[in-house]
Amino acid sequence: MEEHGVLFIDGNWRSPAGSTQIQVTSPVTEKVIGAVPQACHADVDAAVNAARAAFEDPAGWSALPAVQRARALERLADELGKRTTDTVRAVSTQNGMPVTLGKRSEAIMPAALLRYYAELIRDHPMEQERTSLTGGSTFVRQEPIGVVAAIVPWNYPQTLAFFKLAPALAAGCPVVLKPAPETVFDAYVLAEAAIAAGLPPGTLAILPGGRETGAALVAHPGVDKVAFTGSTTAGRAIAEECGRLLRPVSLELGGKSAAVVLDDADLRTQTARLFGACLANNGQTCYLSTRILAPRARYTEVVDTLADLARSLVVGDPLDPATQIGPLVTRAQRERIEAEIGSAIENGARLVAGGSRPPGFDRGWFLEPTVFADVDNSSALARRELFGPVLAVTPYSDTDEAIRIANDSPYGLGGTVWSADVDRAKDIAARMHTGSVGINGYQIDLASPFGGVKDSGLGRELGPEGLASYQSAKSVYLG
Ligand code: NAD
Repeated sequence: MEEHGVLFIDGNWRSPAGSTQIQVTSPVTEKVIGAVPQACHADVDAAVNAARAAFEDPAGWSALPAVQRARALERLADELGKRTTDTVRAVSTQNGMPVTLGKRSEAIMPAALLRYYAELIRDHPMEQERTSLTGGSTFVRQEPIGVVAAIVPWNYPQTLAFFKLAPALAAGCPVVLKPAPETVFDAYVLAEAAIAAGLPPGTLAILPGGRETGAALVAHPGVDKVAFTGSTTAGRAIAEECGRLLRPVSLELGGKSAAVVLDDADLRTQTARLFGACLANNGQTCYLSTRILAPRARYTEVVDTLADLARSLVVGDPLDPATQIGPLVTRAQRERIEAEIGSAIENGARLVAGGSRPPGFDRGWFLEPTVFADVDNSSALARRELFGPVLAVTPYSDTDEAIRIANDSPYGLGGTVWSADVDRAKDIAARMHTGSVGINGYQIDLASPFGGVKDSGLGRELGPEGLASYQSAKSVYLG
C-alpha cells in the first residue's frame, strides 16, 4: 500500500486542510493499492496564493533571468531522471499502461521537454528592439502570463503534465498542477524531484483531486491562465467558466482520428507502426487513428491485416515487459466500452476480432483488442470517442471520398495517411481538417505544435508555440 498524508504546496510538504482521501484501485487486481489526501478549496487557496506571491515577488521565479530558470529546469530534469523507475511503475500500476510504453513516454518525455524549453529560453531573448513605424523604437517584451492552473488526465499523467509545466515554468509562470484522481502516486515522485531540484517556493504546487478541485482551481481569482487536457465535456465546462472570466485557456480534448489507407500502402510490413498509431496505451490515447478508411479495391486485405494484428497482441499485466495491451483504467471505463460494442453489433457493424473479455482473466479490467468492419461513418461507433482498444473500418471508393469521410467528424485532433508515396500522402494530409497528421505512423514531435480543431480543442502545446502560449507581449515605446 502506498500512503501519503501531505500535499506539495509552496515548495514543501504541507498537511491538507481537509480529511477526505483519494483511494487508488489497481486495474489488474481490482484491489485498493493506496491513498493520498484530496485537495479541498482551502488547499487550492493556499497553493494559488503561494504561486501569486512567487509571480509578484521582484526576486521570485517570474523575475529570474532566463538563464537561471533554464538551469533550474535542467536540475529538475536530472532529478526526474534519477526517479524514472519509480515514475514508470507508479503510472503502470495505477492506469494499466504497458511498462514498455511507460519507459518510452513517462520516463523520457518530462525530462526531454524540460531540456528542450531550457535551451529555447537560453537561445530566444525575452526582449526584442524594433524600429517604430513612427520613428523611435519599441521594446517588445515576452512576459510570463502569470499563475497557471494545469489540469491533466490519467492516461499519460507525467507526459501531459510536462506538456504544460515545461513551457510554463520556462516562460516564468508559477504552476498549480491538478493530477487526475486515478493517477496520483507519480505526482508525488514529481514533487520529490522538485524539492531535490530546489525549485523556489511557490513555483510549483500539486493538488490531487477530482472535478470539484479542478473547478475551484479554474475559477480561483489568483489564476491567470488555465491549461487543460481531458474530455471534450469537461473542456467545454472549463471554457465556459474561462469565457465568463475572460481568462486565457488552452484545451487539448478528445479525438476520433482517421487513418487513410491509400491503395499503394503496404500495411502488412507496418504492423508495429500501425499498433502505435491506432492502439497504443490500451487504446487510451487521445490522437489514435481509430477510424480506418480502406480503399474498396484492397478492403478485405486491410480488414484481415487489422484483425490479425488485434488477435496477435499480448494482453496481460502492464508490469510484464511482454504485454502490449494492459487493462482499461477503471471498471466504469470497461463497462462503457462494452456497452458501445454491444450497440455497434446491434446496429449492424461486423465484428471481425475481439469484442469480449479475454479468456483466462478472472480479475482486472481487461478487454480484447477489437476490430469492426463495414462501419457506417454516421454511426455512434464512428463518431464517439471510445477510449479503448476498438477499431472501426470503413470502405471508400476514391480519395475524395476518403477525405470527405475523414473530415466528417466532430473531432479534429490527429490522423494518419498510409502510402508508399510520401508526396501523395502529404497532399492527403494537407486536405485533412485536423491538428496533426502522421505519415506511415504517428510520432509526436516535442519541438512542433500539437493540438486540435473542432471538438478536439483550442490552442497548441509543444514547440515554440507552446512557450508563446504562456507569454504575454508587452510593448514599451521609446518616443
Ligand atoms: P476528464 O475530462 O474527465 O478529466 C480530465 C481532468 O480534468 C481530470 O484531472 C479531472 O479531474 C478534471 N476535471 C474533470 N471535470 C472538470 C471540471 N469541470 N473542471 C475542472 N477539472 C475537471 O477526462 P478523462 O476521462 O480523465 O481523460 C480522458 C479524456 O482526455 C479523453 O477524452 C481524451 O481524448 C482526452 N485527452 C486528450 C488529450 C489531448 O492532448 N488532446 C490527451 C490525453 C487525453
